[in-house]
Formats: sequence, C-alpha cells, structure tokens
Amino acid sequence: MSWVAHDVEPYVLQRHFGKRIAFIPLLIGSYAPDMSTKWFVYGVNLFGFELKADNPAQFHRGWPGVGFTHSLMFGVVVALVILLVTRHKVWAYSFLIGQWSHALTDTGDTVGTMLLFPFTTHHFSVGAWAYAGQTGRFNDAGAYFSGPGFVWDGLWILAATWGWKTLTRSYFEENVRPADPVWGWASAALPAVMVLALYRGAYFYGVCRWITWLLWAHVANDFAFSIVWGGPVWVPALNVANTAASTALRGGMVGCVGPCCGGMPRF
Ligand SMILES: [Zn+2]
Repeated sequence: MSWVAHDVEPYVLQRHFGKRIAFIPLLIGSYAPDMSTKWFVYGVNLFGFELKADNPAQFHRGWPGVGFTHSLMFGVVVALVILLVTRHKVWAYSFLIGQWSHALTDTGDTVGTMLLFPFTTHHFSVGAWAYAGQTGRFNDAGAYFSGPGFVWDGLWILAATWGWKTLTRSYFEENVRPADPVWGWASAALPAVMVLALYRGAYFYGVCRWITWLLWAHVANDFAFSIVWGGPVWVPALNVANTAASTALRGGMVGCVGPCCGGMPRF
C-alpha cells in the first residue's frame, strides 16, 4: 500500500488533464479502494472487542475479501453508476482515472492488486516495497517509511510540487472551478479562501503526513533505513508466492521477503 501517493497523485493528474478533469471525483477515486476497509486491516478496539481481519492482506487485497476494490473493473462499475445517477460524464471518468491510478500504484508492493478481477484473481505485483499491513499500523508505518515506499511517495510529492502552479489561485479559477459545478455550489456556501483551501487540502495533508511519519520513524523511534528492492529487509513482508494468487492467499498466503526473522524494532 502507499501512504502518501494517493494524496498527491491527483494534483499530478490534474496538471496533465487541465480543464478536462473534475478534481473532486478524481480525488475520491484516488482514495476509494482503501475507503472503509483500512481500519479492518489494522484492527480497531471497540468496547473491549478487537475487530481485525484474521488475514489482513487476504481481506485487503484478496478474494474472498475486498481486494476487488483494487481492480480496474471496480472503477468501471462505480464510474458507470456515477454516470447513470448524475449523467455527468466528466465526474464518471474523473473518478475512474483516480481509482485506476490507485489500483496501479498499489501493484508496487509485495502483495500487489487483482487488477483484472473478476476475470482472474492473479495479483499483479512489482514487489518494490514490503506489504506489512499485517504487522499493525505502527510497524507498517515504520517499515514503509524506512524502505523504498517512502522514496516512491517522495517522487510523487516532487512531481506534484514541480507542478506547483496547479496549486495557485489563478490555476484553480481558470482550470479547476470551470470543470465542475460543485465548486460553484461550495462558493455559494463558503468564503473563497476556504474553497481554495479545500482544493489544496490533500496536497498539504500528504506532504505533512510524509514528513511527520518520517520524523516519527527515525527521530522519535529508531526504525532502520533499508532502501532495497522489496524492503525493508527487517520486516516480514507478505507476498503472493506464485501466480495462483488466491490459492496461495487462502493457504496462508505468504512467504517472507528478505531475512524476515530478524525481528522488528519495538517502540
Ligand atoms: Zn490501496
């Protein structure tokens, strides 16, 4: 999974598409695959009961599970629903582009995504950084911000920052607002400065989160940097051992990537 890319990718896409895309559905699409599922991956404690997926990666990325949210077809289906309900073509394909960028981005980790579900449950995975959601939110954060994952997010932040003009008021007025009537409705209810802050929000949220988690992992705690392919080497990364992904998933899913018995830092 990516921690920050999904916040800032929409600004890079916005720069590319200009007036042809609606930013809000693009951003919602970019968040959609993990919306309402992530909490169950890490687990929550409700009135003394722990609610957590038995096999977080299976739940998050597999089938049976909610892995279909990371398929290209899921984006198509939701986009069609948006089109049917709203008759707004730009909203529909903007959502689609956002959701596809999320599904493709998550192929970067060691579990990958079922891009072509329901036609196949094969997991497409580049395996560049460790999937460690099963270790809990904090260990996952420590691992992600010590390995290639945070570098990848950093590249997206660079790309979005390189296109800083997309964040300016004039760009917003000329390109973002005209593409989507929602901004007009928002302007009727809110002062202009707040509407602009809403548009810029995900960028600043992403950048702040990236910096804060890095400081948390390496200043407040002592997670070891390990920027190697599939890393960090010290975390028990999950992967899909063979192309029969769902079988591998059901059978306990997993192998370790790297010397994963090394133990993780405590904090
Ligand atoms: Zn995801």
